[in-house]
Amino acid sequence: MTLDVAWAVDWVRRSAQTVTEHRDELIELDRQIGDGDHGENLHRGFTAVVAKLDALPAPPADIGEVLKLVATTLMSTVGGAAGPLYGTAYLRAAKATSVPQIDSPGVVAMLEAALEGIVARGKASPGEKTMVDAWAPAAEAAAAAAESGAGPAQVLAAASDAAHEGAEATIPLVATKGRASYLGERSAGHLDPGARSTELLLRAAAQAAG
Ligand code: ADP
Ligand code: MG
Repeated sequence: MTLDVAWAVDWVRRSAQTVTEHRDELIELDRQIGDGDHGENLHRGFTAVVAKLDALPAPPADIGEVLKLVATTLMSTVGGAAGPLYGTAYLRAAKATSVPQIDSPGVVAMLEAALEGIVARGKASPGEKTMVDAWAPAAEAAAAAAESGAGPAQVLAAASDAAHEGAEATIPLVATKGRASYLGERSAGHLDPGARSTELLLRAAAQAAG
């Protein structure tokens, strides 16, 4: 069981769709503990990614090529913290997937590379109320699922379930990284917008895998 370039393209399209559907929710979450731009940032970014995908002269040769297009486009169109963070995540993920197909260990390697990119860029540890609180449990759950013999679609489903749990678990946390940290104790009681968008993007990956 493997995922191919068509899966990666479908993931991108589903990502654009879900961030557009949840644009207002992400704006509201970011308005509560940030500056309210997260939903608009991601909507603009992924809309640009789909436009570039549609304009490609030839189909991408491997999964990494699709993810690299996401990375470079997000870096140039999404501002704020999330642009460079997601850009680095997709760039590292692209480097881990420069093949036409990936199996379960390949999915795990992709998610671990993305997490490493975010941590390298943002220097956040789990528990600081950032997107790391969704990515870290997602990568961990993916590895556990792959080890127990799950196929790539199940590995991605486990990752998105864990991202959901991780995102919900940011609610009571006090932010110590990013814009929300300016609020100190007042950041508690709110869901981190980047953790929520991470959950949406990983759910899109799982749905594209069927
Ligand atoms: P900005 O904070 O610049 O307005 P966004 O609103 O687009 O950028 O993104 C905010 C999200 O970015 C936060 O909800 C958080 O998940 C994530 N974030 C911010 N700083 C960091 C960091 N240092 N490490 C990991 N994630 C971070
Ligand atoms: Mg913001």
